Amino acid sequence: MIVLVINSGSSSLKYQVRDTEAEPGTNPVLLEGIVERIGEGEVSDHAKALGVVAHHLGDQRIDAVGHRVVHGGERFSEPVRINNEVTRAIERLNPLAPLHNPANVLGIRAITEKWPELPQVAVFDTAFHRTMPPKAWRYAVPNELYTMHGIRRYGFHGTSHQYVAGRAAELLDRPVSELNAVIAHLGNGASATAIRGGQSVDTSMGFTPLEGLVMGTRSGDVDPGILLFLQREGFTAAEIDTMLNRNSGLKALAGRNDMREIVEAAYPEDGGKYDGDARLALDVAAYRLAKYIGGYHVAVGGAQALIFTAGIGENSDTFRALVVEQLGALGVKLDEAANRERSKQPRVISSVDSAIPVLVVPTDEERAIADAVVAVLATP
Ligand code: ADP
Repeated sequence: MIVLVINSGSSSLKYQVRDTEAEPGTNPVLLEGIVERIGEGEVSDHAKALGVVAHHLGDQRIDAVGHRVVHGGERFSEPVRINNEVTRAIERLNPLAPLHNPANVLGIRAITEKWPELPQVAVFDTAFHRTMPPKAWRYAVPNELYTMHGIRRYGFHGTSHQYVAGRAAELLDRPVSELNAVIAHLGNGASATAIRGGQSVDTSMGFTPLEGLVMGTRSGDVDPGILLFLQREGFTAAEIDTMLNRNSGLKALAGRNDMREIVEAAYPEDGGKYDGDARLALDVAAYRLAKYIGGYHVAVGGAQALIFTAGIGENSDTFRALVVEQLGALGVKLDEAANRERSKQPRVISSVDSAIPVLVVPTDEERAIADAVVAVLATP
């Protein structure tokens, strides 16, 4: 099946065309692109953006469309075929993801208008985490916050964590339903997930993607008392939002958020200038992740593997080493040469005497979305 995968944001629309039956070794991405600055100039809205996509597609056949939808709330625990009722249900979740879901809905409506006959499937970033038990998703705050406002932990990056769990199980040669593991998805956004029996039982992002690990520009966990303090000092909600989501994390500590630059500054090659701020940023981020890994090792009843994925997880041997060197208490050890090796393949990077294997498993969210489209459309 040829699937158009759409990731529709408020001012950009990313797309990929995937052949789900591509032979191994052949290029699975038939076409891809991004339409940016939607709302400015000629590309005044998502319908116009789709016109740009249609032009790029030319006479490329498309059988179905898969949408990455950020928030599925409590309703969606699996990918679903889109109809008007589903679109409205996604729209009702707008208050929970005010930046993302409205843009996802615009993308869905633009496709419905342009190609009404194409089947569409919504794949939710939160869905994989619907298996978390209440003890993991409840905040210890007054009940009305949950019942009236839906304030609970939802978790994100689910499509990636689920895909990576599946690939890791293959590499470990066991059914995914028997996999207990900790997955660290480390991109610009970052989250760790505790996998027990192949399911998510805890994850570090919460009500929003702000909770948990130190990220490129997001703070991750902070004392909520800080927000109250800032409010009393006169900061507005919008200012605090920008501060914690866009100007925190690695960017705040190291002055930049590209992991490559931070590593170079913290470990300068012959003669370069040592940057203590960059080193501190790495230490804070690695320490936070190491603590989550220790906690999730307990949550899953003993992990059988630690798995790194996404831009930093797949590519930064330095960051992986900084994390794993703090896991001595768990007996986890890297094979230095294997850790340094560059490859796009899923692989083991731990030493033979490591208590559990450490894996690098490249994620592929578009592939996961395309596969989900095939699965949903195959079920009557
Ligand atoms: P997004 O969340 O935007 O999808 P990615 O998964 O692409 O993010 O990850 C982006 C991060 O990966 C950036 O911090 C980037 O510096 C880092 N990264 C990419 N390639 C490398 C590399 N070769 N070495 C170290 N870090 C890398």
